[in-house]
Amino acid sequence: MNDLPEPPPDQTEREMLGLGTEVTYNYRCTRCQHEDAVPDVVIDGFAASAGLKRGRMPRLVCPACGGAFLAVR
Ligand SMILES: [Zn+2]
Repeated sequence: MNDLPEPPPDQTEREMLGLGTEVTYNYRCTRCQHEDAVPDVVIDGFAASAGLKRGRMPRLVCPACGGAFLAVR
């Protein structure tokens, strides 16, 4: 019994990067008006895979209805 409890990977990663607070962006569905806060790491991942320049907000898919999920400014 020498298993040590490990912190969640996400927490460890954030500590390594020196990030204390999570930044989120508000997104809203154009079809069902569902709103959600999306972490910046998710935004960056989608933006990178879509080939967007840094700072551009990628279009996501609504988790509720599958419609267009757009950033709220
Ligand atoms: Zn929706």
